[in-house]
Amino acid sequence: MIAENLKQVRENINKACIKAGRDPRDVTLIAVSKTKPVSMLLEAYQEGVRTFGENKVQEIMDKYGQLPGDVQWHMIGHLQRNKVKYIVDKAAMIHSVDSLRLAETIEREAAKRGVKIPILLEVNVAGEESKFGLSPEETLPLAEETAKFPHIQVMGLMTIAPFVEDPEENRPIFRKLKKLSVDIAEKNINNINMSVLSMGMTGDYQVAIEEGATMVRVGTGIFGERDYSL
Ligand SMILES: *Cc1c(COP(=O)(O)O)cnc(C)c1O
Repeated sequence: MIAENLKQVRENINKACIKAGRDPRDVTLIAVSKTKPVSMLLEAYQEGVRTFGENKVQEIMDKYGQLPGDVQWHMIGHLQRNKVKYIVDKAAMIHSVDSLRLAETIEREAAKRGVKIPILLEVNVAGEESKFGLSPEETLPLAEETAKFPHIQVMGLMTIAPFVEDPEENRPIFRKLKKLSVDIAEKNINNINMSVLSMGMTGDYQVAIEEGATMVRVGTGIFGERDYSL
């Protein structure tokens, strides 16, 4: 099942790229494996997946040693400051930085280990109350503050779009995130790179790619529905 799903998702990514006149190599598929057992991740690994996304620190720690060392783990969920120390040397990228205090903690823990960690600023474009993330207005100021930290590399922006029936409804959200990223890039701030746009999930990644996503986070479309009752 995973092999077939992956084939389908990769095909859809290629189609969206062709439609948008983009190079498929500029879009990274993050296989969102939260709640899924290691056996399923290994199946995806066999099919060439090297980039996994998890939303809990504990789950990254549990799975980390059980997959080959060439796997990249992306932390895509809300991150508590007291847990940063556990993943700062395990996560290839943290997608969910949304406060100066969190950035400060990441800086401190990365400095201790002598690493520089790539991060994205999470933006709540739609202004949903239930979601974490910066307002668009808060994003540039935090980017400027974070740029001063020598052990953090700001690589771009991330958003979690609303859950919608028709993915077209999220097109304006993706477009706004893209515009925000272009606006910030134009400021030419030292140590800020706006090359990554992490947006699009199972329901809407094709639209996100058409609007400039460079990372799409697909869980259900690869691994099937999640069962939280377990
Ligand atoms: C769970 C999750 C996804 C994947 O969602 P699907 O709809 O299953 O593709 C993507 N991004 C984040 C931040 C998530 O928590």
